[in-house]
Amino acid sequence: MQIVTRLPVQFALLILSCVAYQSGAAEPLGAGAGTNEADPAGLPPWMWSFEKLAGVVNGLTPGQDLTPEEWPGGARVAVMFSLDVDNETEFLVHLQGPAESMSDINVFELSGYQYGARRGIRRLTDIFDRHQVPATYFMPTVALRLSPDMADVIGRSGRHEIALHGAVHEPASALSPERQRELFEESIAYLEQATGQKPVGYRAPTAIMTEHTIPIMKDLGMLYSSNVLSDDRPFEINLNGKPSGMIELPPSIYMSDGPLMISADAWTQALAPRDVLQTYKDAFDTAYEEGGIWIFVGHPHVSGRRSRAVIIEELIEYMKARGDVWFATHREVAEYVDAQWKR
Ligand SMILES: [Zn+2]
Repeated sequence: MQIVTRLPVQFALLILSCVAYQSGAAEPLGAGAGTNEADPAGLPPWMWSFEKLAGVVNGLTPGQDLTPEEWPGGARVAVMFSLDVDNETEFLVHLQGPAESMSDINVFELSGYQYGARRGIRRLTDIFDRHQVPATYFMPTVALRLSPDMADVIGRSGRHEIALHGAVHEPASALSPERQRELFEESIAYLEQATGQKPVGYRAPTAIMTEHTIPIMKDLGMLYSSNVLSDDRPFEINLNGKPSGMIELPPSIYMSDGPLMISADAWTQALAPRDVLQTYKDAFDTAYEEGGIWIFVGHPHVSGRRSRAVIIEELIEYMKARGDVWFATHREVAEYVDAQWKR
């Protein structure tokens, strides 16, 4: 998810509305789910039956808690750093019109995203590597094709994971089921060829999934999703009330650098980086006490900036000083959870 550096306020509404609905879809998620707007008959939701309301909500829900009894090495918490490497794709996907000349392009906006590829990903990966902390890079394929040298930066330690994040950050709701499957297959093949790793995890661009997304992932042998905010523990995703078999490693908009540090108008920062550092620490301390998981959702063009990257390094030092932390990729945690899962 670009956890929405443009429209953070709309994000919560977006994720609530998007997962249960795809226009033109054959089988809506949840009985009665057919629109996220008013009823086709023109009635607002407060005039709907409870069954219709529940059908919309219950299309995609958290299933059983998959928190294992213990973490490897007796760790108190599993820490996952993830980067959504949107870079220019977050700009490209919002283009309207042909953009055939430079005068059609907001250079300030585009170059802000380019910073992610040119500087941000390097600075953050340097920090991860200096501290021998693994990370997961959710990568739109177009971002990697525009800056193929990112594969070397990410791959040099042999510690990091590459995972799926669309092609050009397209929302799944814009795709037919066939095109969605095709893009999954193309993205898996491209990332495997470019990085030597076959991706097994998926974070949906713009946090939009359809009723076809999880079934496609399962068909293609994917292990985990990192999209659904309904819990802060690992869980199984249920579809229409039935266990799907898919592991969810839930992110949070309150742990994403976009909403935390970019204001709704995108011209100012929402919170000062030092206040964000305290937010991350508080969430970590609570996850530590609970014996749970802690997931950071970052973007190279946001957290890779100097004033933000320093708090990532201080955060890692804070976690290491506390001790008993399992730093792992999403894949490593998903594989461990899968192995511990008493089906
Ligand atoms: Zn994204």
